[in-house]
Amino acid sequence: METNPYNNRVNGGSAIPSRVSRKTKPDNTIVSINDVQVGGSEIIVIAGPCAVESRLQLFETARLVKAGGARILRGGAFKPRSSPYNFQGLGEEGLKLLAMIREETGLPIVTEVMDTRQIELVASYADMIQIGSRNMQNYPLLKEAGMCRKPVLLKRGMMATIEEYLLAAEYILNQGNDQVILCERGIRTFEPSTRNTLDLSAVPMLKRLSHLPVIVDPSHGTGLRWMVPALAKAAVAVGADGLIMEVHYKPEEALCDGYQSLSVDEFARLMSDLNKIARAVGREISVPKPSTV
Ligand code: PEP
Ligand code: MN
Repeated sequence: METNPYNNRVNGGSAIPSRVSRKTKPDNTIVSINDVQVGGSEIIVIAGPCAVESRLQLFETARLVKAGGARILRGGAFKPRSSPYNFQGLGEEGLKLLAMIREETGLPIVTEVMDTRQIELVASYADMIQIGSRNMQNYPLLKEAGMCRKPVLLKRGMMATIEEYLLAAEYILNQGNDQVILCERGIRTFEPSTRNTLDLSAVPMLKRLSHLPVIVDPSHGTGLRWMVPALAKAAVAVGADGLIMEVHYKPEEALCDGYQSLSVDEFARLMSDLNKIARAVGREISVPKPSTV
């Protein structure tokens, strides 16, 4: 019989099956964010700015990504910035703007929570909460996220192994919340030409080891706008259930991650290319008819 060392290790090397493991639950888990289902046949695209910067920036970007076929809107209100002197996000004001544009567009919203003290507030606005790469092993936060009963987008730690990643997800499931989406967003390697090294091999590996849906973030994965379309297409081809991408109505004016944000035109073009790849691998993607774009 084939043996997989990683599977044993993800199960703690013990006979006790882990909740994230496909051995425990062979069928794919579908994560529902309002009326959007991740993990089924449709490839779900989450798009929006890195950070909510202003009403104008968020509303313009949101309307245009919706027209391009995005099914969920992203936007950070609490930003984990490397420098304390950089824009830290609008905080609750950003959450309020996200809730307002959800009313208008109908797009569910996903936004990051960085601290257990913010979780109640963020969960009261968001349709899905995001735990970022830097907090993947923040165990109190993972436990609180498990208890808050909202779907959770858990990004891979930039230095986390697959085993560590799945064990982090296990903390959330262990609280009775199986609505968890995994997201490969690049890992730190010796290679400096890209912001991170996007580990697309993580997609088939995670899907083999776990029943949870897996999406890919080619924006943080590369840090380079021009490279995002190539890796977004590759992600769909290797079996990702969705993508999360940064899009800005004026990338050159972005307060955060503009160099890796697509313009809305680039996003619309990419969506139509992704549609072709999705069909080739037996999936579908929601792309509006040309007349509505
Ligand atoms: C983000 O998606 O806004 C983000 C900060 O990503 P990551 O946690 O992957 O760096
Ligand atoms: Mn960003």
